[in-house]
Formats: sequence, structure tokens, C-alpha cells
Amino acid sequence: MSTIAERLFEAQARIAAAAQNSGRSAQAITLLAVSKTKPASDIREAYLAGARHFGENYLQEGVEKITELADLAIHWHFIGPLQSNKTRPVAERFDWVHSVDRLKIARRLSEQRPEGLTPLNVCLQVNISGEASKSGVPPAELAALAQGVSALPGLTLRGLMAIPAPEADVVRQRQALAQMKQLFDDLKVQHPQMDTLSMGMSGDLEAAVAEGSTMVRIGTAIFGTRK
Ligand SMILES: *Cc1c(COP(=O)(O)O)cnc(C)c1O
Repeated sequence: MSTIAERLFEAQARIAAAAQNSGRSAQAITLLAVSKTKPASDIREAYLAGARHFGENYLQEGVEKITELADLAIHWHFIGPLQSNKTRPVAERFDWVHSVDRLKIARRLSEQRPEGLTPLNVCLQVNISGEASKSGVPPAELAALAQGVSALPGLTLRGLMAIPAPEADVVRQRQALAQMKQLFDDLKVQHPQMDTLSMGMSGDLEAAVAEGSTMVRIGTAIFGTRK
């Protein structure tokens, strides 16, 4: 059994190798350690090994860990589904949210962001695989949503996020990631401050880096399987 620190270093090495293979700098890719369902002690271990960005999916669990780990200089990312009646703790306690897919939610987050804090960093979640059951804005509605979000004073539009449908076929897997990069580049014309393309997980981080990801969200490969 390897330790969390060893697995974090392995994940960083995978990112570096993938970056090198596509002629990119490893510094251009941020590792977001996805710690959902894992105890605060695991996060502390990864932090001591050098991880600084952590992602949580469940609001109450995330807020508890943020409170418990207040002594650490962690950037907290909310990456789970957002309900419009539960935006306040996200606005008050997190630094980033990756799962904004409706203007109604964005408006609430902006209104609820406390005045003393910097604006909340936002990625718009795109339903890139067109799955009826999935959250995410359809690509055809993305430009309008980005326009609305960028006008909100409590938010900073940082980029896009996607969770492509699981795909055994590597070519098909690459297609969805490439479509995200195209959407990102197109949108950047109107929103040049955008610098974050959040895609790639334990199973597809190499493909995501090859297609231009700037932030990979790694859970299992660092913290082990979840129950
Ligand atoms: C759980 C989760 C991840 C991490 O997935 P792994 O396959 O465990 O690396 C990444 N992104 C989101 C949105 C998740 O919910």
C-alpha cells in the first residue's frame, strides 16, 4: 500500500509526462485533489505533501472540512451539483465553484458573496456529451450564460468545466475533450480573462492534458477508491 504522499507524487508525475508529450509546461496545469468522502486527516496529509487545491462535492461535508482545516492555506473548490436554495455556504466558504450552469444560481452566488472577500472564482459546467440526466449548460446556451455571469460583481468568470460521459473508446473520449477546448477558445475572444479549463480525472488526465486542460480533478488516484 502506498501513502497519499506517494500517490500524489505519482499523479504529479503523470501530469508532467502528459504535458511534456504535448509540448506544454507542467506549470500550466493545476492539480485539484478531489477529497469527497475522505476524512480531513487525508487532506492534511496531501497538503503536507504539497497539494494546495482541494475539491469537494457535498456541501455539508465540505464546510465541515473547511472549518476543521482552517489552519491550512487551502484553495477550496466546490465541484458538485448546486441547488439554488443551497448556494449561501458555497458563496461564503469556498474560493471556487466549477458547477455553475444557470444564471439563477450565479446571481444568488454573487449576491451572497461576502463583501470582504475577493469575488468567487467560477467555471461554467458544460454538458458536453449531451446527456439528458446530467447537469451542465448545453453548448448552444453557453455564450449567453457567460455574458450574464461576467456582469455579476461578486463573481469572476475563470473558465469552463466538463465531466464527459464515460467512454471506453479513446478516440471518442478525445472528441469530447477537444470540443471543450474549442468552446473555451471561442469564448475567450469575448472573455479574455478566462484562464481555466477544468477537465480530466484519474482515468483520463493524460487525454485531458493533451487536449488543453489547465486543471485536472484527481480523486481516486490520490486518495484511493471511494465507498
Ligand atoms: C469525484 C469527482 C472527480 C474525481 O474523480 P476520480 O475518478 O476519482 O479521479 C472529479 N470531478 C468531479 C466533478 C467529481 O465529482
